[in-house]
Amino acid sequence: MAIVETVESDGRRRLRVASPATEQPIGDLPVTTGDEVRAAVARARRAQPAWEALGFDGRAAYVQKALAILIRRQEELIDVIVRETGRSRFETVMMEIFPACDSLGYYAKNAGRILGDRKVPMHLLKTKKLLITYRPLGVIGIITPWNGPFILSLNPSVQALMAGNTVVLKPSEVTPFSGRLVGDLFRDAGLPEDVLTVVEGDGETGAALVEAGVDKISFTGSVRTGRKVGETCGRNLVPCTLELGGKDPMVVCADADIERAAGGAVFGAFMNAGQFCCSTERVYVIESVADEFTRRVVEKTKALKLGKEGEFDIGPMIWPKQLETIERHVADALEKGARLLSGGRRATEVGNLFYEPTVLVDVTHDMAIMREETFGPILPIVRVKDEAEALRLANDTVYGLAANVWTKDEDKAIRLAKGIFAGSVCVNESAITYGAVEAPFGGRRTSGVGQVNGETGLRGYCFAQPILLDRFGTKDEHVWYPYTADKTKMLQRVIGWLWGTRVGRWLG
Ligand code: NAD
Repeated sequence: MAIVETVESDGRRRLRVASPATEQPIGDLPVTTGDEVRAAVARARRAQPAWEALGFDGRAAYVQKALAILIRRQEELIDVIVRETGRSRFETVMMEIFPACDSLGYYAKNAGRILGDRKVPMHLLKTKKLLITYRPLGVIGIITPWNGPFILSLNPSVQALMAGNTVVLKPSEVTPFSGRLVGDLFRDAGLPEDVLTVVEGDGETGAALVEAGVDKISFTGSVRTGRKVGETCGRNLVPCTLELGGKDPMVVCADADIERAAGGAVFGAFMNAGQFCCSTERVYVIESVADEFTRRVVEKTKALKLGKEGEFDIGPMIWPKQLETIERHVADALEKGARLLSGGRRATEVGNLFYEPTVLVDVTHDMAIMREETFGPILPIVRVKDEAEALRLANDTVYGLAANVWTKDEDKAIRLAKGIFAGSVCVNESAITYGAVEAPFGGRRTSGVGQVNGETGLRGYCFAQPILLDRFGTKDEHVWYPYTADKTKMLQRVIGWLWGTRVGRWLG
């Protein structure tokens, strides 16, 4: 059964989408062809200089207007996202609308400060002045997944736009109506034509965008697709950020607040039904508190309510294929000796695409559930004898997206955080770094390349162009022609003084 399928109508491919909660049709829309993608990129390129020329304040005015529209029309947007993802309204506001408002507001307000020209004092070349300017790259291609269909499309778009680029956005084919809300929002804010274009379709459209001559690709999605995108970008010498999957560990120390840690584990693992790149997918808990922690986790898990309308906690799997991965991982774990403490089955009484939040113990790293991204509501718990074992196991993975550590000792927390090979670490909090706009966000190892968000992310949509200015306007420079033996000696004397004496080293 497909929640999205590609159909042919009047010689054109169309995406036909149904709700993962009710399986009722939502609608269909035309797939953008490769030629149309290339034309959109060409138009975006023509629109870019005028957009850049507006300056930070001019661009911010449109972004602030989009924010005002988002606030005013949020119920309408929530309806679209809820229909397409099956999530609760609360989760939609928390995961999509709140961070979208923050992204629009923050970058509108701060991009000028972060990307404004910077004078940098020269430590050595005192006869020169250095100005660092952040020049937009040009046209940014943004390709996004279905698990946060609105925010993951909006957030990179806002950053790229505020940096002075134009954007061609390709949202996931699984949730195209939520992705296209980004285009609607900016259109209604009066954004000049072709500054942001949404193209629709599956991998074919995405691949066409990567090859369409853009100046950067900002990709969020699976490792498998990320590799393909990275290969193409490498061949075409196009910079890219790849925000990919994870298998995030959680470490619970003996001195942790066990009630808070248990609540954090349940939220971290089951938020968005586990369809979150920074989901807690592995827990390592110190033996002495493992029973108490596990008891509280199971109690909280059993209290969660699956549903599709009104007030509920857990919605369906948005992408039906995800259920196959979940079932394969759980079956493999049980076959190899894991024990189920809760869940472990589809909740067909609620709907075909619902899976019960599941707690597993006696899991080992021989099981797929501890090695591959599950992307579902599964929480496997491992008892460890000490923090060293927790760290060793936490790092026993090909991924490195995020992690979380639970202890009352802040020094220990920071030491453990630095020991975990992950793009970001939260302490006494589940992985919420993506929502902290100031924090650079990205993965290590197979979890990604580059970072988005904050100052680092914003600068990533630019080329840092240094402009070096001569200060004194002398008629010539010592190093200019003619080259002579005297000049060589003089330069060597300078080297000897600068790096061979204490005063020189202090000055240099
Ligand atoms: P996916 O890789 O299947 O698809 C992502 C996007 O890439 C979609 O828009 C898709 O149409 C497009 N695409 C597919 N083939 C392509 C190709 N050959 N060239 C260009 N584009 C192509 O991922 P998904 O299933 O939509 O998303 C789930 C994955 O995303 C999970 O692994 C999750 O961990 C990851 N994710 C990562 C982050 C992060 O910030 N690190 C955030 C959210 C999701």
